[in-house]
Amino acid sequence: MPSSPGIRARLAAVHDRVAAAAEAAGRDAGEVRVLLATKTQDAATALAGVEAALDLADRAGDGRPVLVGENRVQELVAKAPALAGLVAGGRLGVHMIGHLQRNKANQVLAAATCVESVDTLALASALASRCERDGRTLDVMVQVNVSGEASKSGAEPGDAAALAAAVAALHGLRLTGFMTIGARSEDDAVVREGFARLREIRDGVVASGAPGTGDARELSMGMTGDLELAVAEGATIVRVGTAVFGARPAPA
Ligand SMILES: *Cc1c(COP(=O)(O)O)cnc(C)c1O
Repeated sequence: MPSSPGIRARLAAVHDRVAAAAEAAGRDAGEVRVLLATKTQDAATALAGVEAALDLADRAGDGRPVLVGENRVQELVAKAPALAGLVAGGRLGVHMIGHLQRNKANQVLAAATCVESVDTLALASALASRCERDGRTLDVMVQVNVSGEASKSGAEPGDAAALAAAVAALHGLRLTGFMTIGARSEDDAVVREGFARLREIRDGVVASGAPGTGDARELSMGMTGDLELAVAEGATIVRVGTAVFGARPAPA
């Protein structure tokens, strides 16, 4: 397990990267939050990351909840007990950032405060009906596959605005924005273009005035390798794993 002083120093370095990128783009660094992507890390390591993030937030006088994200429902559920107290206290938001199957909706609802990876109306409807049943509201984002790479999930860019409007109209869900994974390309211009596309989709949806779209301002985009490009294009959440926790073991 990486030591917590190491995690803290690396997280501070990520905040420095975000601040430098925001300054270069003429943005306020406070507009960009760092979500800790804790996949493959055990609960103790995830908690060490959260504690480092809370400490940095406290020092900065930032009272917003710290954010963690999980890719797989199984890992989300496994870490939930370690994080539940902080979630209940309003200090932590837990985001589902990986592909989600409809039949896992119940499990996700028990552990997540936001599902960033909504990519079909069928999934949104499954989440919404369970939220209505439970008398709660779940924050969701629409994931868009801006690069068109077959390995990535997400709605097609051309379908994203219509999907967002349909999701926003569902009772039980609150559409808070849009998420994407940047193109796998050595060419910064290509990566940036995809992030710009997500921003344009967001701007169009918010400007549409369609019911429920008024809160859809978040742009969750940018990871360890491309967060500067995402901040330059308007990211409000960057999702960072490797830069904080170190390289993950290769999948078996
Ligand atoms: C793993 C992951 C991240 C973090 O990626 P790093 O390159 O480790 O920073 C962000 N978003 C999603 C959806 C991920 O799966």
